[in-house]
Amino acid sequence: MNLILLGAPGSGKGTQAKALAQRVKTTHLSTGDVFREEISKQTDLGSKVASYVSTGKLVPDKLVTEVVTARLGALGGPFLLDGFPRTLEQAQALDAYLQKAGKKIDRVIYLSLSEAEVVKRLSARRNCGSCGELYNMLTKPPKRPGYCDKEKCGGKLAQREDDKEETVKKRLMVFRDLTEPLISFYKLHENLFEADAAGAPAAITEAIVAELGAVA
Ligand code: AMP
Repeated sequence: MNLILLGAPGSGKGTQAKALAQRVKTTHLSTGDVFREEISKQTDLGSKVASYVSTGKLVPDKLVTEVVTARLGALGGPFLLDGFPRTLEQAQALDAYLQKAGKKIDRVIYLSLSEAEVVKRLSARRNCGSCGELYNMLTKPPKRPGYCDKEKCGGKLAQREDDKEETVKKRLMVFRDLTEPLISFYKLHENLFEADAAGAPAAITEAIVAELGAVA
């Protein structure tokens, strides 16, 4: 099944995407994860996108679309896009690519969450610098403060540079201005499912899986 996961930063896209990819047997592709990895490996792509990512600005549509279509081409099979598309231009470029490739989006899932909750969650978010495991000081704190719980890891937890307050405000503004219009765009295509992202992560996953089952 080919899926798109939409939602504000902090709405739980990463967590849901990982869980859903396993449940519906599709490959998770997160543009944010791709960019962070390229930045940490200091590749050409990493150096092109670093200043956008660290300041919460969007990477130019053309560049991000090239990255995604190249990865989708290499992948071949079903996919779950997390963090892409983020603008109408990206959505239209994706449509054009899929049409050429003879593929389609089966469902768009929108994780809806109030802005107050988004800010609260993002400021509490931490991740392990060694294995990437996600934590949240409010909902999923580590057993030993500041360190990863995972066996054989114990890496130091850190806050993402772009989760600092000023950058969070910028990312939310970008979401409101550029990404929210996508919700109407996909509603028009009648394949949008709006999931309440305020509950427990496992319950949200179940609600989405049940919905996908209904249309599969
Ligand atoms: P995320 O982890 O999805 O919040 O993405 C982190 C950062 O990567 C964003 O704030 C942007 O700078 C960049 N980014 C990720 N996906 C996109 C996209 N589809 N279009 C433009 N920039 C993106």
